[in-house]
Amino acid sequence: MDLASVREYLKNYDGPDMQIMEVCGSHTGAIAKNGIPGLLSPKIHLLSGPGCPVCVTPSSYVDKLIELSMNPKNCIVTFGDLLRVPGSTKRTLSSARGEGARVKMVYSPMDTIDLALKDPETDYIFAAVGFETTTPVYALLVDEVIRRDLRNVKLLTAIKTMPEVIRYLCESGAPIDAFIAPGHVSVVTGTKIYEPIAEEFQIPFGVAGFEGKELLAAIYGIVRSYGKGRVMNFYPSVVREDGNPQARAMIDKYFIVHDCAWRGMGIVPGSGKVLREEYRYLDAGSIGLDEDHKANPACSCDRVLMGKIRPYECPLFGKICNPLNPQGACMVSTEGSCFSYYSNHRTDG
Ligand code: SF4
Repeated sequence: MDLASVREYLKNYDGPDMQIMEVCGSHTGAIAKNGIPGLLSPKIHLLSGPGCPVCVTPSSYVDKLIELSMNPKNCIVTFGDLLRVPGSTKRTLSSARGEGARVKMVYSPMDTIDLALKDPETDYIFAAVGFETTTPVYALLVDEVIRRDLRNVKLLTAIKTMPEVIRYLCESGAPIDAFIAPGHVSVVTGTKIYEPIAEEFQIPFGVAGFEGKELLAAIYGIVRSYGKGRVMNFYPSVVREDGNPQARAMIDKYFIVHDCAWRGMGIVPGSGKVLREEYRYLDAGSIGLDEDHKANPACSCDRVLMGKIRPYECPLFGKICNPLNPQGACMVSTEGSCFSYYSNHRTDG
């Protein structure tokens, strides 16, 4: 079917109401940038899910980073997104830096190696947050630390895995009829990983790319598969059924499955990774960071992340909460759904 026919079908769709969740933060951004909601029938609703790594990190993890950062012997190494995420209070890594904490922003985890080599007196702690996409790079970092026998690099991990949280959402009765499966994560996991969930809950999955036409093709395939347990790959140029076994082997070499806490959701069984016991000496205290308290009690990030409300339904959205003054994690990162809705003036239902 050509693109014009797909657009016409989706605009005039008059079947059952469908709630389709995109679980990837990059998809949330791409959907807004391409004006996808405006191309859909009012019976097709898009929901953002828990696919922004910073947004799903519990407050106790941020608190721990801040605590570590205040030790003059330490320097926290992180991607920029984490700097402004509030912990259980309004304190952030950025505000800790204002109090004298040492925090370095990097573009690659491997930059930690250079920092550690140049300054052996400092302990460099890398904030390893993310999904299957970034975990292989964290494994490479561990590999290099061991190879060079570096004694001043550690990781504080909050590594999450997607299929388990998708299953958790299905089991929790979230109002979801289908998933736009994450493109980047699926490069590593492959498409097969979603099949048991699709079958058990009789819902379709469409693995999508990030171009407007790729997203429309995935939504079209999903809508045509309403009520069917089916996994479709609309991103075959980079995603295979089996994913990337080498990347998964690298992850498995250093990390094992662990129950872990997601912001606003509590502990999701088997949904995270921690360093294997034999490499735990490289861990800066990641296990047991399960507490989650909102810095602002009115923040609704938990309900946004589970698809129970849209960002603009949070009472703080656009009022006291905006990208310059984020009250919750979902307004901080460009992958956060509140940030994306706010920046793109998105108010679709
Ligand atoms: Fe939290 Fe702000 Fe989003 Fe509301 S708008 S859920 S306060 S991040």
